[in-house]
Amino acid sequence: MSIGDCPVSYRLSTIQFQSLARDVEIGANSYLLSFGDTRVLIDSGMHPKREGDEAIPDFSGIEFGSIDAAFLSHAHLDHSGTMPIIQRSQPDMPVFTTAPTAALAEALLHNSVNVMTSKREELKRTDYPLFTHRDVGRATKNWTPRAPGRTFEIGDDVKCTLHEAGHILGATGTMFEYAGRTVFYTGDVHFEDQSIVCGADFPDSGIDVLVTECTRGDSPRAPEYTRQGEGERLADAIETCLSRGGSVLVPLFAMGKTQETLTLLRDFQNEGRLRPLPFHIGGLSVKMTTIYDRFADRVRRKHPGMRLLRTEGLLQMPRRRGEMPELGGGQVFTLSSGMMSEHTMSNRVARGFVHNPKNLVAVVGYADPATPLAALLRSERGEEIEFDHRHDPVRRECDVERFDFSGHAPRSHLIDYVERVRPKVAVLVHGDRPAVEWMRTEIGKRLPETQVIVPTPGEAFDIS
Ligand SMILES: [Zn+2]
Ligand SMILES: [Zn+2]
Repeated sequence: MSIGDCPVSYRLSTIQFQSLARDVEIGANSYLLSFGDTRVLIDSGMHPKREGDEAIPDFSGIEFGSIDAAFLSHAHLDHSGTMPIIQRSQPDMPVFTTAPTAALAEALLHNSVNVMTSKREELKRTDYPLFTHRDVGRATKNWTPRAPGRTFEIGDDVKCTLHEAGHILGATGTMFEYAGRTVFYTGDVHFEDQSIVCGADFPDSGIDVLVTECTRGDSPRAPEYTRQGEGERLADAIETCLSRGGSVLVPLFAMGKTQETLTLLRDFQNEGRLRPLPFHIGGLSVKMTTIYDRFADRVRRKHPGMRLLRTEGLLQMPRRRGEMPELGGGQVFTLSSGMMSEHTMSNRVARGFVHNPKNLVAVVGYADPATPLAALLRSERGEEIEFDHRHDPVRRECDVERFDFSGHAPRSHLIDYVERVRPKVAVLVHGDRPAVEWMRTEIGKRLPETQVIVPTPGEAFDIS
């Protein structure tokens, strides 16, 4: 049954939740909430590993013009990537988000059109691109920035407040208040400060229903871990490599990871732990850094006012779009994409880089098992790796080291948060099966009174 099928008398003052994702996993995240007759969409993501219709949330039950408002929690494409598609059928629907998320997501969506357009040729997909630059332009006109901490009203007496979620610039969770009850959606969250973004500023009481992400539920973080210690380990690894005449490649997602890592390395340069030298960046990373810099003194963050692109001697950019940097010794390449996907700069540099035993690839982000970066991480020294199917494999002789700078809360912090909140109902989303099951068991142990729900995709259920 979909939310729209319920009889009107029953719907009055009822709160319902429905996952529009196609599976219990981190894929195309999208959720439908109904507060009586007011219908709200939360996020509209694109699946990072699927193509075409399979990459889109299941919007089949949603009628034209039937949603009153949407919320976009943050710019990552698994939350924002299909917003222009659902907005086509909801032309009057306002999309509430923060100003930084609006700016970052708009740039990512335009880039996504370009990626889909090249896939049209490469994968022979006549349905691509799934939306156009013009669709993005039309959609963003209905995006309505809201500042965190300010309450506003939508539809039939539903009060909404955004709360900063850490994770990446502009990310928020959303509190809904309706008919004396509250629902809080965390979005993607990190409770610890990163180099730029401050940890989440979440309410921890007065929440009846908590809808929480579970990304890192499947494994614990090492108890001795500190972000500072991990940063020092990275700085020392870079110094060691440079001292023996090698170069370092740090593959980075253009948005978030690039700006956080550059700021971390800049801090170590200022402390003298890392020698002063410019970091090579390019393409989409420059665009995303411009947006981070634009909000340098407009959001709560660390190093307020610090602009990466205006920091003397910090960055080295290509003179022409797509130009390869020279691969001599003594350089640090902080290039996208984060998983060395084909046709990206980090992939191209890696092909001319990993044969040199003096070099180091420093991995600071997530590596999907099907990507060239994961192949590199799995490899032994001397093994051949195919980075790009159009080119010969390359023998890996360089060092490869992994570092943890996740923008997601470790599971101990997630479960501590649920315990502090003590919700009547906990709805578990944004996690693969093992992650969600760990959270379900752990909440059962700590809060036996709390009802725990893992939503079956497509099924609406009462949460009040
Ligand atoms: Zn995210
Ligand atoms: Zn996500």
